Amino acid sequence: MGEDVKWNEFLHEAAVISDLTEIGALLSWDQDTFMPPGGGEGRGHQFATLSSIRHERITSSKTADLLAELSERDFEEGSPEAGILRVARRAHERATKLPARLVEELARRSSTARMAWAQAREAKDYSLFEPELAAVFELKREEADAIGYEGERYDALLDEYEPGATAAELRELFEPLRSEQVELAAQIAESAVKPDMSPLQRGYGAGEQAAYLKALVAEVGYDFRRGRLDTTIHPFATSMGIGDVRMTTRYQEGDLAAALFGTLHEMGHALYEQGIDPAYARTPLASGVSLGVHESQSRLWENLVGRSLAFWEGAYQGLKAAFPQQLGNVSTREFHAAVNGVQRDLIRIEADEVTYNLHVLVRFELEQALLSDDLAAKDLPGTWNERYEQYLGVTPGDDVVGCMQDIHWSVGLVGYFPTYTLGNLMSVQFWEAAGRAIGDIDEELRAKRYAPLLNWLSENVYTHGSRFQPADLLKRATGQALSADPYLNYLKGKYRALYQLS
Ligand code: ZN
Repeated sequence: MGEDVKWNEFLHEAAVISDLTEIGALLSWDQDTFMPPGGGEGRGHQFATLSSIRHERITSSKTADLLAELSERDFEEGSPEAGILRVARRAHERATKLPARLVEELARRSSTARMAWAQAREAKDYSLFEPELAAVFELKREEADAIGYEGERYDALLDEYEPGATAAELRELFEPLRSEQVELAAQIAESAVKPDMSPLQRGYGAGEQAAYLKALVAEVGYDFRRGRLDTTIHPFATSMGIGDVRMTTRYQEGDLAAALFGTLHEMGHALYEQGIDPAYARTPLASGVSLGVHESQSRLWENLVGRSLAFWEGAYQGLKAAFPQQLGNVSTREFHAAVNGVQRDLIRIEADEVTYNLHVLVRFELEQALLSDDLAAKDLPGTWNERYEQYLGVTPGDDVVGCMQDIHWSVGLVGYFPTYTLGNLMSVQFWEAAGRAIGDIDEELRAKRYAPLLNWLSENVYTHGSRFQPADLLKRATGQALSADPYLNYLKGKYRALYQLS
């Protein structure tokens, strides 16, 4: 085989861009964990410099020429080479379509809007945030128009997070979730079954929680030789390369569930990144393919494993041994009922499986309306509150626990929210496909054998990184197209039994 000069040159460019991305991830991880407050100003400059160098490399004429020359090659569809070109071309095209002026304005606006959001929350006064929010959506309209779209504007923004997805497709997919989950949540609220949540609130020391969780995630298969678990305010997982995938969590003494399920969630993200084929290191394939697929993995480990009875039938003795005073007189079933408590409430990030998608639907509907200008920024709080009353039977007392609870829109993340629900739907599709291959997953979990599930996910999802488009990956792994039915069936089966609904 002769030296493929062009291809190697292209891979070298891609590797440099990958290095710059991972350096940015390291700076960001440091900022959110150990950086002293005095580092903030310098870090801002470092981010700006790094992102402008990265932008130059992605949009350079050299990259453009290489992409054009390589587009002549007919790499086999679905091959790693075809995947590398697809991802690199997409990044190049998105970056070149945005004029420098717009990129700068978006960066500046997300900084001022984020500050206004924080001040408005502090003052409990939406009017301080309203003009900034309107300006963010105005810029997002410009951004969508610059990128281009076939169906509707929203698609251009959604594509950033979920390549290939469209608003029309998601509206249709999510439609049954609204009616069925609204009804299920309402029935649960009426049920006489009220799980006792107090075992989760019995003074859990942060140090003991950390020791327990480190052992647990290692037992499941998270590799500490290629990772770390640290403390932060807003938990996340991040990759500095396949050999260095870190997680963070936070411990609350009065709420064991926060760190327990927060950590299992981030572990799902981290297992995905740790499981990518090492041959893809420093290529565009070396990260999860979309936010939806990523979220399917965090949700799978957090909910389908972590909130299942079978998992705790295996793992509960260990948890009890770590916290004998708090859990000594709590049975496995009582603990399982407590971690599956359902509450129609105001805050998305605290929501349970039954209500979570309803929180997302409100945001998905309202951000489409804001983007199309069917909803004016000044009318957001009223519409938000109406929608919460309709779907969840609760009305926010103020906008801090209403339309200002999430940071996303203030920093320009529009088209991001639906990926949470996509993740929920796909998590059950992957779970069921793994079950068909393994036989009896519950039996494995009861015996604390996590390898069969982890291996199936590694071979069918993780190892591929960004090689296949999300829809193709799902189809290859499960034989199915994206559907709401598996999720709804899972949800209804589980919660009708837990809450003794007819
Ligand atoms: Zn997540």
